[in-house]
Amino acid sequence: MSDDRDTFLPPGDWPEFPPGLVWLAGAGPGEPGLMTLLGLHALRQADVIVHDALVEPRILEWRGPNAVVEYAGKRGGKPSAKQRDISLRLIELSRAGKRVLRLKGGDPFVFGRGGEEAQTLVRAGIPIRITPGVSAGIGGLAWAGIPVTHRDVNQAVTFLTGHDQSGLTPSAIDWGALAKGSPVLVMYMAIKHLAQITGNLLEAGRGAEEPVAIVSNATLPSMSVLETTLGRAAADAQANAVEAPAIVCLGEVVRMRQVIDWASQLRGEPPRDLDPLAIGTPEAS
Ligand code: SAH
Repeated sequence: MSDDRDTFLPPGDWPEFPPGLVWLAGAGPGEPGLMTLLGLHALRQADVIVHDALVEPRILEWRGPNAVVEYAGKRGGKPSAKQRDISLRLIELSRAGKRVLRLKGGDPFVFGRGGEEAQTLVRAGIPIRITPGVSAGIGGLAWAGIPVTHRDVNQAVTFLTGHDQSGLTPSAIDWGALAKGSPVLVMYMAIKHLAQITGNLLEAGRGAEEPVAIVSNATLPSMSVLETTLGRAAADAQANAVEAPAIVCLGEVVRMRQVIDWASQLRGEPPRDLDPLAIGTPEAS
């Protein structure tokens, strides 16, 4: 251990956080308990924490007593220039001999530009370590009682973004192939262009009655879940003023929530339907 910083962790072979290292870690979707132990270890050791807007503030309170916090979220403007500025700042901090924790919401390599930052750092000769996190498209849906895969429903799941670098619905996505090839679609950053996205999927042959869940502020006390269908999703999202950040999930796994919505059940609500798809006999398999 580099000095007497307390990591709050059980005894084990925890990695060193030497000065000059940039440690890129995921903070998970919000609920602080979803941060990994390695993430917490890094947070306790870091001299500087450079974080994004989606990192839950309660997690930052766990930092070491002398750690400095820097916000690096995007505030509009040119996203690419801003991204370059963030990478340059990380390089500068590393060269100043700081232990730098780059903390991102969810998982840093899932629609989080962690790959770009890691590439830039490595090219600049900066030593890095990567620690994954719980991504909103898996952990956030679990909080809503939606398993991203279920043996009776889907053998594949696709994660996609509703934005490309220009801020538009990604033109590189082959909607026809997606619609046919993936029974479950988990969409990040999809609220702004939801009408266009759902329109593309309907046009590509997905059913208007297919279930959709939109999970906002997943895992946080402010979490809300809108259950709708592919045909109605865009109108319902607008009518209900769905808040970002939100994950949109399309597919039969959404029905599992009727049984598995554990958060509501812990609040005393009964399961709504004990056999949502008339499928799945887990006791027998
Ligand atoms: N790296 C992150 C994703 C960053 S992109 C991850 O792995 O989760 C930002 C998008 O993530 C948001 O637009 C939203 O679609 C999703 N997201 C992140 N946190 C969320 C949360 N708590 N609830 C719902 N969606 C979330």
